[in-house]
Amino acid sequence: MTTFDETRMRTGMDLGLIERLAAKLGPDAVISDPAGMAGYLVETRGLYRGSALAVVRPKDTQQVAIAVEECAAARVPIVPQGGNTGLVGGGVPFGGVVLSLTRLNRIREVDAINATITVEAGCILSEVQEAADRVDCLFPLSLASEGSCRIGGNLATNAGGTAVLRYGNMRELTLGLEVVLADGRIWNGLKGLRKDNTGYDLRDLFIGSEGTLGIITAAVLKLFPKPKVRATAFVGCAGPRDALSLFQRFRDAVGDRLTAFEYIPRFGLEIVLKHAPGAVRPLADDHPSYALIELSSAEESVDLQGALENVLTRAIEDGIVTDAVIATSEAQNRALWGLRESLSEVQRKEGGSIKHDVAVPVSRVAEFIQVATKACEAEMPGIRVCAFGHFGDGNIHFNLSQPVAMEKAAFLAQWAHFNRIVHDIVHGMNGSIAAEHGIGLIKRDELTHYKDPVALDLMRTIKHALDPHNIFNPGKVIAMGDHDIATVPGAKIP
Ligand code: FAD
Repeated sequence: MTTFDETRMRTGMDLGLIERLAAKLGPDAVISDPAGMAGYLVETRGLYRGSALAVVRPKDTQQVAIAVEECAAARVPIVPQGGNTGLVGGGVPFGGVVLSLTRLNRIREVDAINATITVEAGCILSEVQEAADRVDCLFPLSLASEGSCRIGGNLATNAGGTAVLRYGNMRELTLGLEVVLADGRIWNGLKGLRKDNTGYDLRDLFIGSEGTLGIITAAVLKLFPKPKVRATAFVGCAGPRDALSLFQRFRDAVGDRLTAFEYIPRFGLEIVLKHAPGAVRPLADDHPSYALIELSSAEESVDLQGALENVLTRAIEDGIVTDAVIATSEAQNRALWGLRESLSEVQRKEGGSIKHDVAVPVSRVAEFIQVATKACEAEMPGIRVCAFGHFGDGNIHFNLSQPVAMEKAAFLAQWAHFNRIVHDIVHGMNGSIAAEHGIGLIKRDELTHYKDPVALDLMRTIKHALDPHNIFNPGKVIAMGDHDIATVPGAKIP
């Protein structure tokens, strides 16, 4: 096995590879000048800055296979990249080539009767949503980054978002895949089948593998009937336990018409109102916790507004909800969602933020928020907990904003320390330290700390079987010992 030494200068061998790639894929498919490559080398929040020999931009699956074959023969690592919106450093190269999938952007087929769409890995998520909409269907994956993230990245990270409660995450939305393997072969698993028990599930192996097992080039995705009616409410309550009781009431009352149940703490709403342009206070008074609730249905005749009012009226009578507003127009609906969607962005304006993307069983999500908040506040007086997100999936973005008077760098230096506090609580509740965004580089060592050793061993066995020379995204997700990036020169960790 060969390890790429990212400190080496470009050798004759590297230049030969770049020339061969340009000759085989066309000169416009290879970028090797520093200015052209710059945007491909940084993580979206600036947490990591890497380096690469070149950025390779194949235009179809055959060209991806050629690029992989050439790099594999030269033992040069490949870092696949889609929209580069990932939040864990997984798409940042530390040597080798970036394989950008952006030119594989064709919608290959829409089959409205089979309720499937076959798309290439470089399609932007919002374009796939629009293509589904044109045949009166819904592709339900919905992320704040949907205007720039791409299907290959969504698959490689098993992306979640705000509609998981009703439709599932990317794994559950996928029927088939096409993947280029480490030896350059193409696995054609593009089947649009709801039932297929012909052996091991290879599709699920590649979904969520963050570019470490193969290059996803296309996928068959599920479509759903388009919702015809929608109702949205913004609710205030006394804390996460009441939010959980309310969630249970909605699930019992409307079943899978409950499309989203998002949690926002008081501090979260305060900073949205302070920093987000045009944000309007939704309720007259302040409340310790808020929930954004959405119901939707493909049946036009269903009275969702009435269902919302019924559940909320009873919850107010029982003291579970302290105040609520129901959107009466599409503009109001968008404004309420805008409050939730601005939350990620506005945290930057409050200084340093230490982030945890975790999940616990839904039954323990309120307890988790309370216990972890107390532990962090006790550890650092003045710390401001911003625990928000996909409450109905048990997935909380447990973020910590720095105390107002503290130095940002001094606060961020405590990241590993708070990881241990928060992740120990999550682990103790049989939860996950990486619910949505994946492992990448930022959580690789945390994964080694918390994951079952047998599972880690199986993961290494699979990685070695599919990628024996550790060509695909080395150093990400799982440490492979001597053959990995042990340190990350040039990386900037907060
Ligand atoms: P990239 O960032 O380019 O890559 C991500 C990983 O996938 C890397 O490890 C890369 O090597 C690998 N990869 C990319 N393409 C391929 C391929 N074709 N084959 C194999 N491996 C590949 N994520 C959520 O899950 N839920 C959210 O709600 C959410 N909200 C976000 C909001 C904002 C504002 C931002 C900036 C990000 C958010 N994300 C969220 C994170 C991110 O958008 C998702 O992880 C997304 O799925 C990444 O897609 P991408 O095309 O940008 O992938």
